[in-house]
Amino acid sequence: MNSSGRPDDSAVESFDDSLRGELLQPGDAGYDEARTVWNAMIDEEPSLVARCTGAADVCIAVSFAQDRDLRLAVKGGGHNVAGNALCDGLVIDLSPMDGVRVDPEARIARVGAGATWGDVDHETQAFGLATTGGIVTTTGVAGLTLGGGLGYLARKFGLAHDNLRSMDVVTAEGELVHASPEENPDLFWGMRGGGGNFGVATSFEFDLHEVGPEILNVRLLYPYEAIPETLQFYDEFMSNAPNGVGCYAAILQGSPEYGLPERFHGETLLAFRGLYAGDVADGKDAFRPLREFGDPIADLTKPVPYTVYQQQADDLYCEGHRNYWKSNFYDEISDGFVETVMDHTDPLPSPYSTVFFEWMGGAIAEADADATAFPHRDRSFAFTVAPKWTDPARDGEHIAWAKMFHEALEPYAADGVYVNYMDDDEDERIPDAYGDRYDRLVDLKREWDPDNLFRSNQNISPTA
Ligand SMILES: Cc1cc2nc3c(=O)[nH]c(=O)nc-3n(C[C@H](O)[C@H](O)[C@H](O)COP(=O)(O)OP(=O)(O)OC[C@H]3O[C@@H](n4cnc5c(N)ncnc54)[C@H](O)[C@@H]3O)c2cc1C
Repeated sequence: MNSSGRPDDSAVESFDDSLRGELLQPGDAGYDEARTVWNAMIDEEPSLVARCTGAADVCIAVSFAQDRDLRLAVKGGGHNVAGNALCDGLVIDLSPMDGVRVDPEARIARVGAGATWGDVDHETQAFGLATTGGIVTTTGVAGLTLGGGLGYLARKFGLAHDNLRSMDVVTAEGELVHASPEENPDLFWGMRGGGGNFGVATSFEFDLHEVGPEILNVRLLYPYEAIPETLQFYDEFMSNAPNGVGCYAAILQGSPEYGLPERFHGETLLAFRGLYAGDVADGKDAFRPLREFGDPIADLTKPVPYTVYQQQADDLYCEGHRNYWKSNFYDEISDGFVETVMDHTDPLPSPYSTVFFEWMGGAIAEADADATAFPHRDRSFAFTVAPKWTDPARDGEHIAWAKMFHEALEPYAADGVYVNYMDDDEDERIPDAYGDRYDRLVDLKREWDPDNLFRSNQNISPTA
């Protein structure tokens, strides 16, 4: 057997017998579903998929790969654009481990590593509680949290990983350890920002906060011509906004979904989508300057349940399309940045293609910068060019658009890149993703995974 090939039949059979979950191989029912990820550009055929039902299965699967030097990947929600959840060897599929248990008194959620943010929101909102999660409900808790965790609540409560009290981790030796400020604190530090480089997280313990159940849902739309002045006002507004304001911007194509007159369908528009983490009335006050600025073509702002708010972007960022991302952090929305954005977005290359701004600051910037491995706390926003299409014949055109746009923006970008937004052709940017934490992360990698078993990720090599 070679490093990515299939082990012999008797080894596979006893591996299968030792697992509580299913072991899938090509041709098995469920195999194709298990090897499908969000980005339809990814078409990997693992020789084995272990659908783990708990930490015990994960220990067995990791040891199986380690003993045979078998290529290994770990699948949480399968949303990583680069397709790192898959490889041609063994895939540990955590999706059966999607339980969420809320302790409303202690305000803690214990979340299985196969859960999605939709699972977490559903369980926590039953008690009027929430924690910072992603903006699409089908994204995995695990990958998003381990890389950082941007979300609408992050300016109020910190990044997803800032809310972690502890986690359970299966090491490269196939042993289960607990990581927290008290136990294995270095591992706990590195896995909050360093991704899955050091082990397989099997469960997370999150702090919860009072949110909703009803929150102010801010949705504003502007025509293409208004983008420059509106974006510059957005910069000023967000730089002074209270932490309860979470507000992202996107440039997208108008569609009937927004209830707009037909003349805006297919037009390039600017959209704000935001919430206020607090009372609806306070939210209206906080968002008043943005809502009173300029002449939006629609203001669809209204109170909605938090769970409804969280599902709103699911259709736009749906599964089954081809995707390619290019992302950077920025410190400000400068004139040159705006001109470049205008030059590249009219028209957008296809109906689902977007570019999006995720404003940071607030609690993200106020947290102790050394507490976790995430190095980009002082950046103003992440900006991502995200073409999305269906026809494989149009791959080249969409990828070229993203690359050209990204290159034109380079003069205005700050240092660093968000590890969770890197595509699979960006290995040279990996040190930028880990910034000034890189050397410490390499030391940690040498300690916890010297053979680089966990390498299907934005990899920190132990030999760097
Ligand atoms: C539609 C969409 C919306 C998004 N929205 C946001 C957002 O709001 N905020 C944000 O910060 N990011 C967002 N992201 C990016 C997201 O954080 C990354 O794609 C992340 O990798 C997704 O996690 P996952 O578990 O779904 O990924 P997967 O593809 O399953 O895994 C991603 C990486 O993490 C590793 N991994 C997964 N689970 C584990 C585990 N338990 N232990 C160790 N390693 C593991 C995998 O091996 C792989 O390297 C979004 C992505 C998409 C496609």
